[in-house]
Formats: sequence, C-alpha cells, structure tokens
Amino acid sequence: MSDHYERVKIELQQMKEVERDAAADVEQLSPASVSSVPADVSFTARRDLSRSSINGRSRSKSRSKADGYERQVNGKQLSDLTPQKSDYSQGQSRVSNEPNLHIKGTARLLKGKTATNGHVESCQRQTDGKEDVSKVAKKRRTVTVDTSKAKTSLEALKMSIRQLKWKEFPMGRRTACDIYWHGVSFHDNENIVSGQVNKFPGMIEMLRKINLSRAVRTVQELFPEEYNFYPRSWILPEESQLFSTQIRLLKDNDATLKPTFIVKPDSGSQGDGIYLIRDPADLRVISGSQIKQAVVQEYIQKPLLIDKLKFDIRLYVLVRSLEPLEIYIAKEGLSRFCTEPYQEPSQKNLSHVFMHLTNYSLNVHSGNFVHSDSCSTGSKRTFSSVLYRLASKGVDIKKVWSDIIALVIKTVIALVPELKVYYQADIPPGKPGPTCFQILGFDILLMKNLKPVLLEVNANPSMRIEHEQEVSPGVFEYVPSPVDEEVKVGVIRDTLRLMDPAQRKQHVTSNTGGGSPEEAIVVETGSDEKEGSADSLPSLCLKQVFPKYTKQFNYLRVVERIAAIFLRFLGVKGTMRLGPTSFRTFIRNCKLSNSSFSMASVDILYIDITRRWAGMLPDSREAGMCLQAFIEAFFYLAARRSKALPLREQVVLLLEVCEGALEGQSHSEKPRPHRSHTNPASSQSSAPTTFSSPALTRRRQRPLQLSAKANTEN
Ligand code: ADP
Repeated sequence: MSDHYERVKIELQQMKEVERDAAADVEQLSPASVSSVPADVSFTARRDLSRSSINGRSRSKSRSKADGYERQVNGKQLSDLTPQKSDYSQGQSRVSNEPNLHIKGTARLLKGKTATNGHVESCQRQTDGKEDVSKVAKKRRTVTVDTSKAKTSLEALKMSIRQLKWKEFPMGRRTACDIYWHGVSFHDNENIVSGQVNKFPGMIEMLRKINLSRAVRTVQELFPEEYNFYPRSWILPEESQLFSTQIRLLKDNDATLKPTFIVKPDSGSQGDGIYLIRDPADLRVISGSQIKQAVVQEYIQKPLLIDKLKFDIRLYVLVRSLEPLEIYIAKEGLSRFCTEPYQEPSQKNLSHVFMHLTNYSLNVHSGNFVHSDSCSTGSKRTFSSVLYRLASKGVDIKKVWSDIIALVIKTVIALVPELKVYYQADIPPGKPGPTCFQILGFDILLMKNLKPVLLEVNANPSMRIEHEQEVSPGVFEYVPSPVDEEVKVGVIRDTLRLMDPAQRKQHVTSNTGGGSPEEAIVVETGSDEKEGSADSLPSLCLKQVFPKYTKQFNYLRVVERIAAIFLRFLGVKGTMRLGPTSFRTFIRNCKLSNSSFSMASVDILYIDITRRWAGMLPDSREAGMCLQAFIEAFFYLAARRSKALPLREQVVLLLEVCEGALEGQSHSEKPRPHRSHTNPASSQSSAPTTFSSPALTRRRQRPLQLSAKANTEN
C-alpha cells in the first residue's frame, strides 16, 4: 500500500501540475470564468448570444463517420424512375380507404400525393394557391441559412429552403446567418458565435460503434430490462479474451446454442469491414501490425422478413436541444432490403453479404437490386409502405411504432450525458456560441417477433436525394431518387421549420410531461406543433416525443445526473477531463470521505480508474478523468455505501446524498429537475479502507444472455 501510495503521490503531483497549467491558460483567456471553487455550472443550451469570439477552443476537428456517401452503381434505366401513375399513388388510395392503417401523421403526410415527387409537388401546389402566404412571409424577417458546408445534403436543403421561402447563402456570409448547415461536423465552420448549427460537438465521436456501445452499456448496468433492445456487444481488442471465455462457457452450458456474431470496425460505415463469425477463434483482431478497434455483437438470427428478404429501417430523429431535452421522430423513414433471400446463418452462408447486410451501398451492387419508382416496392421503400403491408397481415403496427419511439428516446437518453460534456467543452456556459440541433439516422432491425433492435445511430445520415446511374457503359450520372426525396426533403424542411428563430421564440414546450409512467405511447395523427401556420406547408412530418413522454422516461436519466455533478466540478475551462484536485473537491463537497475512506484512498481511486480508462482511450489527448471513468468511480462509491441494494438503488441513493450536499452549498442553484423519489436515507456501511484495484473497480459484467436464445423461441 505504501509503495503504491508513493507512486500515486508522484503521479498526482504531475497531474496537478498539468491541471495548474491548464487553469493558468484559461485565466489568460477569461479571468472571470475561473474560480477556485468549482463553478456552478448550469447547462444552458439556448442562451443569449453576444458577438465576441472565443479563442479557447482548441478541440480538434471531428472526424467524419458519414454513412452519407452512398456509392452506387446500377444498371437500371432512367425510365424506371420516370414519374408515372405509380403503384405508390395506387397504394395511397387503397390506404386512405383502410381504417386500420392510421399511423398518425404518416397517413396525413401521404394523403393527396399523386406524383412520385410527393412533397415537392404537393407543397408547391399548396403554397401557390395561397395569396396571403407571401404577405405573411414579407412581414417576417427572412431566415438566412449558410449552406456553404452542406456537402451531400445540399440538394435536399436547397429544395427545403425554396419551399420555406428562406434565404440561402451558398458561399457563406460575412455577417452572421440564422442557421448554419454543416455536412459533417460542428467544426465544419469554425468561430461561429451566434445562430444555430445543425451538428452537436462530439456527436460523431459519441456515435462511433465503440462509444455508442459503451454509453448503452453504462445505462444497461442500471436498467438492463429497459435497454435490452441493444444486442450484447464486446469491445475489441480489450474484451476479446472476455468474449472468448463467455462464449465458451455459454456453449458448455447449452450445447444446442449456435450463436453467430457480427464484427464491426469502430469507425466503419456502409458495411465496410463487417464480417460474421460463429467461433471466437475467427476474430481478426490484428490487421497488419495494427490492432483493430471494433465491436463484436450478437447477431440477430431471426429478423422479420418481407418477400423472404431481410430489411432494416432508417428513421430520422431530430435532437432539437439537449437542455431541455427535445426529441422529434420523423413519421416517415426508409426500409432497405437485402437482395438475396434470407437464411439463418450457417457456416456456408456467413459470407453472403447480400443476404445478411441490408446496407444500400452494398446491395446496390447486386444484380438483384431493384430501383423502383414506387415507394412500396423495390429494394428501398418507405417505412410506411412496410407498415401498411404488415398491418394488412394483422400486425399491431401501433405497438411497433410505440416500441420504436421508446427505443429512440432511451438511446438518446444514453447519449446525452457525454454529449453535454462535449457541448460544455466547446461552448462553455456564459461564453458566446451558437446553439445546436442535429438530425440522426437510427438504423433499426425488427426481429421476427416484431421487437425492434438498435443496430447503430448515424451522426451524418445520408441526405442525398439522387443516385448514380450508369446511363451507358461506363458513363454515370446522377438521377433523382423519388423515395429518398419523398422522405428526406420533408425531414430537412421540417427541421428548419422547427428551428425557425421566430418560432423558437414563441415555442412553449406545451407537452411537458404528458402521460404517466404506465401510460402507453400514443401513436396519433397530426403534429404536436402548430401546423402550416406560417406558410400553409404540409403538416410537420416530425413528431415530438420528448418532452411529450417525459413521465414515462425521465426515471432513466440517472447517468445524466452523475454527468451534472461531473460538469459542475469540471468547471468552464473547456476541458473534458477532471483533474485530481477537482475530484478531491467533489469528494469533500459531497462529504463522501470519512474515517473509513480517507483522502489517500480517494487519490488511489482516482489514479487507478483514470489510468485504466486512459489505456482504453488511447487517442485521447487530455490527461485526467473522463466522464466514463467518473461514472465508474461513482458506481464504486455508491456500492461501498450501501452494499446490499441493487446497483440502481445504490447509485440513486448516492446521487441524492451528493445533490443534497451540493444544493446546500449553492443557494442560487435551482432544484434539480430529475430527482427521483427514492428515500434519501443513506445506509452508511463500514467500508474497507483500501482498494484492491483495479480489479475491484472494474465494471460488473451482466450475466450473459443472448437474444439469439430468444430468437430460437420465436
Ligand atoms: P455500418 O455502419 O457499417 O452500416 P451497421 O451496424 O449498420 O454498420 O451494420 C451493417 C448492417 O449489418 C446492418 O444494416 C444490418 O443489416 C446488419 N447488422 C448489423 N448489426 C446486426 C446485428 N446485431 N444482427 C443482425 N444484423 C446486423
């Protein structure tokens, strides 16, 4: 212990020096923003905007994980896409006579569309017919949009701006715009100090496969049942041994089990580098001299099939704000189909990508890919057409929708804590900066039993509305894709409508907390926003789901409360790592040390956990304790205070102790929004004085249970 403590002391000293240097840097930038007492950080995403620039943003540019660059080659003729009286329009008239098929909003959105270009034509018709619309528009200040960095979403964005009669700045603008549309990341334009940017800082990083898995696993530890929509995953290379051991044990226990696993490179997209395995020995952990960062995941063996084909769902989700949390889901999405009939995985078919992977970018290369001018046939269809099809077979599609809505809300809740850390690092409270919103692409698979499974979330979902076509041998050109246009223009246009600065001012979150925890999610027609009020546009295709369903889901926001404490002690220095002094201050202010838990033990805890996480996040430049490490320390502290309870209760109890202590210290602080109703009486237990770390502090592993097993029961 004493040797170990000596080493810890030296390391601490070094880290404190780094911490002091960082503080000195910050003081030079903004003396007022640094205080010896941790700042009372209240996270305000929507703040008043002033114009001075911030120099202290040294964070590197986000790397793109765009799924957006759909590489396509196909041999279909242009005439295949020519507008004609399509199956789709016929489908619509059938649908409108079908009383069972009311997914709210979707039906309405689709009503009256006879052209393949759907939205555009119907919108045009409507706006043209209203004389007073232009008068209303004239009275208002025209909203300005900087589209200079929009990249592949440019076409859909231009259409949307035209429909809204807003003003586009394709080359950027010297003065500030109301909205900045970035194609890749928050950092596409630097030094934006006002307006709204369509990307959150850190979203790309958070949605890489490893980080998404980590974020979901953290909440799974607290709420295993609620988060069982995410397949069991292992992070490579650090958990390759664990993966092998667990699978061997599983097979030893039940020889009938034949699970399959899918291996996905961490920063891959469009199916690149993905492969299936049935034996852990087949993991390709090393490529050349490099160890591959990847996620290996339980493969869902029994997906729902249509026309004998596997398909997935791409849903567009708007995170309109982090604080307060506002989430919208597009009522229309895309279904992407495989091009080879599905068979359950066997050693023979493991490498059949057209059978197992639904990626458009892969299947478009198959001779079987069907480009259709109809939204309800072909290899890419609207999600509503799939739902109509299911409904006609008696499927309870309202239940499917409400399960999907729950999956989306829970996933965003898992992402928010770390996103807030990124946000504060880039746009510290009290400093000028833009506010952010972002459209995410959720990829969801329906299991045969109709349970939705989250495959991944894309920070940059493709917003392309045209696809490449070989018009003569070797000659490619872009042609419009009616299905993409149908869905994507609506999503972008309505996102803009929701972000209209005039509307935001009026926006009152009237739906705060509808429903009770027991109440089912209602899938209803119409929009939560006032529809078409400004410009007689179609009703919004985005449905607000949060805060609308706050009461059902707020209890899940436990990690966010831990992150709030982390942010409070992080201060507003633009960093994302907690130094040792700040960690000590946290322990002291929350009154967590006592005779059985000395400050020396606190230091050891800090060093052990921080060091281990530094090893797991090799590319991180900052020293100190990251949020995930802090959460681990928090879980550890919670467990040692009240050993007998389940982890979730331990954590909630400790949160209440900490929040109570901190509330007492900062009189100006508002009551915390997410207090739970657990009895705050803390059961102080006699805890060991020392740590047998790092093993002691390692996260618990849930007992291994694969839905592959559940699959076989379907
Ligand atoms: P990428 O970002 O490379 O597209 P995804 O995670 O979306 O990676 O996986 C690619 C495809 O693989 C998905 O579209 C889906 O068809 C299939 N897939 C991914 N994960 C699973 C899984 N756990 N079970 C079954 N199929 C999966």
